[in-house]
Amino acid sequence: MGQLFHEARKRLRQAAKFLDLDPDVLEKLKYPKETLAASLLVRMDDGSRRSFKAWRCRYDDTRGPTKGGIRYHPAVCLDEVMALAFWMTFKCAVVNLPYGGAKGGVAVDTNQLSKSELERLSRAYVRAFANFIGPDRDIPAPDMYTNAMTMGWMADEFSTIVGQPSPAVITGKPLQLGGSLGRDDATGRGGYYVLRHLERDLRLSPDKSRVIVQGFGNVGYHGARMLHADGYRIVGLSDSQSALYAADGLDPIAVMEHKKRTGSIRGAMGHGRAQELTNKALLEQECDILIPAAMENQIDAQNAQNIQARVILELANGPITPGGDQVLNHRGVTVIPDILANAGGVTVSYFEWVQNKAGYYWPLTDIHSRLKQGMEPEARRVWDIRLEKEIDMRTAAYVHALDRIAAAVTAHGGKAYFCS
Ligand code: NAD
Repeated sequence: MGQLFHEARKRLRQAAKFLDLDPDVLEKLKYPKETLAASLLVRMDDGSRRSFKAWRCRYDDTRGPTKGGIRYHPAVCLDEVMALAFWMTFKCAVVNLPYGGAKGGVAVDTNQLSKSELERLSRAYVRAFANFIGPDRDIPAPDMYTNAMTMGWMADEFSTIVGQPSPAVITGKPLQLGGSLGRDDATGRGGYYVLRHLERDLRLSPDKSRVIVQGFGNVGYHGARMLHADGYRIVGLSDSQSALYAADGLDPIAVMEHKKRTGSIRGAMGHGRAQELTNKALLEQECDILIPAAMENQIDAQNAQNIQARVILELANGPITPGGDQVLNHRGVTVIPDILANAGGVTVSYFEWVQNKAGYYWPLTDIHSRLKQGMEPEARRVWDIRLEKEIDMRTAAYVHALDRIAAAVTAHGGKAYFCS
């Protein structure tokens, strides 16, 4: 068993301590339900053929068809795919979507492929996994280095195989191919709703609280933009090339315009002077809220000692290592965990799937209000569990999700039913 999956499963055991679970539950969640590995043989532009390792893991489907993205990255491996599928199972349960969790991946460096090679690879993925995925079985979505166009190719390939349009097989599609309004900013928006909902409990207020966002991409940009519009002072922003700190605040819209013009946030101006720092140093600057929105494993046991934020909103997946978590908990920093904070993305993906199945498309205002109505009660419940059981928010989110999964597992009858 790989390290990442091993670490992921520890969360399950930790959460289980706070629930009176039927033994069936942990037994069912011990390993993925099914995992398929394939090699994708792709014709390259120079006429040669290359094979790429690919996986799809359906971790658990007790609560419904499985859902999870497809990642293209050279370092993708079975261990990572299994861990991510495990996380998706819990993320869908935290926000009460009628889904289980899954994940897929291809070990590939997309920078080395032409656009046509990328299309052939994506179509090959669907051919290899066509019997594994399906609108009522397993529904992929974009993840790192896959996007709306990739999903469009994949939906098209699946439709060709089954002989009819089948948009509900995949979410994150372009609007013109059955995508949903509001999917582009859904993850940032979901995190924003959660933070604003818990604002008073967290002793935050827009006019007094300062925010640093690591990763000024899709998720980080929209999160920063919405908080800034409500009066929060965005004092720090970073991307892979640069980090800016401005005590007087930065305007995310202006910084994004600068980034589009120049390719980086480097040199963008704040309301006053912006200071350029290293990415690592930015995490440790003075602020009230830190929002990691870039990559995994950014805060570990070492730099967690120096974090000055009181609240961390995890918009990225897995930005804090278990060691980092321990230090932050010990220091009294509140971490709003990824499986709650960034669940807005999969929630609007769920809306896309519902719209595809119904053949009826909702206006943007409906998407926003349903997302808000979906996220806020779950954030409240996680907060209450945290207080009731005197645990950190991550464990509380796992307890909340596990309780729901357990109820579904035992609805088929557990040990207590069969032995009474
Ligand atoms: P993105 O590619 O649009 O943006 C990532 C940004 O992070 C880029 O601006 C990049 O320059 C920056 N970056 C990369 N390495 C960095 C580093 N070391 N320090 C600072 N910045 C760095 O990706 P995204 O869709 O915004 O996803 C960001 C995170 O959110 C990922 O962890 C992803 O798994 C997670 N997430 C995304 C969604 C979604 O709907 N897009 C949903 C759930 C979770």
